[in-house]
Amino acid sequence: MNGNLRVGNLFGIPFYINLSWFLVLGLVTWDYGSELGFSFPQLGGSAWILGLAAALMLFASVLAHELGHSFVAIRQGIPVNSITLFIFGGLASLGEESKTPGDAFWVRSRVRLVQHYPIWYSHPRQPVWRNYRRTCGNH
Ligand SMILES: [Zn+2]
Repeated sequence: MNGNLRVGNLFGIPFYINLSWFLVLGLVTWDYGSELGFSFPQLGGSAWILGLAAALMLFASVLAHELGHSFVAIRQGIPVNSITLFIFGGLASLGEESKTPGDAFWVRSRVRLVQHYPIWYSHPRQPVWRNYRRTCGNH
């Protein structure tokens, strides 16, 4: 993917952030921060810091989800080339397909233990990107 910044390694897996991710980070921060500032005016500028913290926690949960895919794949002997966060979510790039349909099922479904959408659904305003959970590149 063009515009990827290598951030480091996570459990030996190269971790990238695409430049497009900063746009969605800004949008989510703005959404949470403005909602907090509207609901709790006494927060002042702290509402934006809390909005940023909430956005980062959201993306930490997306990352945990991608790590879920990766750990199941590694357990099946499948190399994981990278994990990338980008504007539409996250992607764990696997080196090959699972050897059986059953194994593929586990790579895609076991990870539901680390889903990231409960944070979305707890949001009162139902933003337009509320279906973000569907944007994981692995299913
Ligand atoms: Zn996924």
